[in-house]
Amino acid sequence: MPEPILLVDQNHPDRVLAYACPTCGMVVDKTYDSHADDERYRKVAARHCEFHCSKCDVLIIKEGEGKNYPGYGTLCEPCVEKVEQERDQRRFDSAQHLTEEEWGNDSTVSMVVYLDGHDKYFPEGIEELREWWFDFHYVSQHPDGAQQPLPNFPAYVWVCNEIVGVRLDASDILENALEEHSEDAIDNVDIDALQKHLDEWCADPANQICSWEPNFKKLVLLSAEENERFIAKWREEA
Ligand SMILES: [Zn+2]
Ligand SMILES: [Zn+2]
Repeated sequence: MPEPILLVDQNHPDRVLAYACPTCGMVVDKTYDSHADDERYRKVAARHCEFHCSKCDVLIIKEGEGKNYPGYGTLCEPCVEKVEQERDQRRFDSAQHLTEEEWGNDSTVSMVVYLDGHDKYFPEGIEELREWWFDFHYVSQHPDGAQQPLPNFPAYVWVCNEIVGVRLDASDILENALEEHSEDAIDNVDIDALQKHLDEWCADPANQICSWEPNFKKLVLLSAEENERFIAKWREEA
């Protein structure tokens, strides 16, 4: 760990008044944390210009290298991976698990499935996912048809909820549009009237916006037999 610069009393050289950053020279305010002991204060000053992972404390060389992770602060790449893995495991453990057959027979869920990690939706369901997965992980990498080991399909996918409609906020839109204007530009317009137009536009069935979001409470386990059937069919056609 780098050492901080010490600010000492000229008449009493062993009396340290404050610590400063060894890189930029800025004196670090001791009052930032009234509970900090000397060791902690020293560390904060020494690291003033450094970025460390808030989970494992490793030095992140450039600020952009870390990823700000909600609830964790700035994390290094391996810690982001670990946090995401733990989150995925928790989600998997607490979700309801459907077989492909149950998914096909469940009238409460849509055809659309979502593949985490690739952030991809498949409107036509699991068979579409298999085709994409296979093209992406095998066919595109072996255009010569080389007999490489075939990829494993994902273990599961998430079912999706349909989101119908959208609300457009008049104030947000105006604020956005007037960003470069003078501050009081928004004062003389009738925001409520615009909101009324927007609400009417959104309610019109002709403007129905429809999209999907993953439902992290329900997942479908991919069936090994169905995977094999897919591969066998592909071999037949190749
Ligand atoms: Zn500094
Ligand atoms: Zn880390």
